[in-house]
Amino acid sequence: TKEDVKSYLFRNAFVLLTVTAVIVGTILGFTLRPYRMSYREVKYFSFPGELLMRMLQMLVLPLIISSLVTAGMAALDSKASGKMGMRAVVYYMTTTIIAVVIGIIIVIIIHPGKGTKENMHREGKIVQVTAADAFLDLISLVVPFLFKFKTNYEKRSFKVPIQSNETLMAAVINNVSEAMETLTRITEELIPVPGSVNGVNALGLVVFSMCFGLVIGNMKEQGQALREFFDSLNEAIMRLVAVIMWYAPLGILFLIAGKIVEMEDMGVIGGQLAMYTVTVIVGLLIHAVIVLPLLYFLVTRKNPWVFIGGLLQALITALGTSSSSATLPITFKCLEENNGVDKRVTRFVLPVGATINMDGTALYEALAAIFIAQVNNFELNFGQIITISITATAASIGAAGIPQAGLVTMVIVLTSVGLPTDDITLIIAVDWFLDRLRTTTNVLGDSLGAGIVEHLSRHELKNRDIEMGNSVIEE
Ligand code: ASP
Repeated sequence: TKEDVKSYLFRNAFVLLTVTAVIVGTILGFTLRPYRMSYREVKYFSFPGELLMRMLQMLVLPLIISSLVTAGMAALDSKASGKMGMRAVVYYMTTTIIAVVIGIIIVIIIHPGKGTKENMHREGKIVQVTAADAFLDLISLVVPFLFKFKTNYEKRSFKVPIQSNETLMAAVINNVSEAMETLTRITEELIPVPGSVNGVNALGLVVFSMCFGLVIGNMKEQGQALREFFDSLNEAIMRLVAVIMWYAPLGILFLIAGKIVEMEDMGVIGGQLAMYTVTVIVGLLIHAVIVLPLLYFLVTRKNPWVFIGGLLQALITALGTSSSSATLPITFKCLEENNGVDKRVTRFVLPVGATINMDGTALYEALAAIFIAQVNNFELNFGQIITISITATAASIGAAGIPQAGLVTMVIVLTSVGLPTDDITLIIAVDWFLDRLRTTTNVLGDSLGAGIVEHLSRHELKNRDIEMGNSVIEE
């Protein structure tokens, strides 16, 4: 029909715009690079990109809560939803383990760590200006007595403040609990909570939201108000996502251009590091282009490339933001609207997947650990390789879906076999780039997982529709 044609063009316009953004961003970045912008100029230049990042992050918390609560509410009967949960978990574990094995095999075959680590380039600390910094800047402008605290905080994070840019940026919070977090920081000393990232314990949130949804789903009239509340919250957030999607191409353009402008000179990347980069790329490609699509095809007997085509915008957003949780809103849109995946599946599988299912990260951590062993001329025995595969799996589950989180959880993997954790600095120079690729793999894994779980749960979903009197669409 005419409507279909219109929506088809509309969707492809988006993809076209996004792809154009990547190309223009890359060209712009390399064109401006020779001018060697100052730190301050780079920060201003990256503003439109940062803004996209923050807008997406802002939606993540309410999106995770409302989709998991509504998923819990609408739970099929407990047996059927238990089955769906099991399928998702089996998928997550299987693909993560396959990814780890690929990483290990590839790094052993290619052996990028020949030579000694003395000839590798060592990098300094990563300086990151966090949202919390910006928030504190803003508050300390208004409340003078906080200046003391602010100075302490600055020392801790080695940051160079750019007042006006950040103050503006603070108008867009990147997580709703941040205001509360800031208050907590002001009243107490900064106490790190184990397992939490930016003050938000994602896994805890997932479990809580699901339980909460199940409980209100089982309440009679008393639960009605909450059911309507979360349903409409979820709907409202998705509408906000639709608005932000219009801004996404511009944001991606500047995210990419900004990164190219500020990145280290490629000249410093020596032979081993270059080989290492190639090894990671090969490993991720095998997993993302061969293994995952094949698995999707074997289970569903449908063309994986059509499915992946519908995901293009989410994949490019992952590449641009290097954060699977920031990409989550776009992943939802692509799966539900382009690929027509059932909301009862996406609402459950996607938030959980973005939190715990990270194939790219798992592959990366195992590979990186073995690379570090290689440059240290440290012979790993079979038991130690098994240990690495177990800890890399755990580390990928524990990593938050934020930029370079995998680098932090790598400490677990290295210490488990007695490798020097300081050597993480050896690979920092290329991590910003490899992080983008593993994040894209992570998002692809979550999305194909949604397709696979939907296919496996089709009978339960259909039965439920018949039960509820919904119209059933025949395949
Ligand atoms: N940036 C990755 C993600 O968001 C996590 C990682 O650092 O591996 O999925």
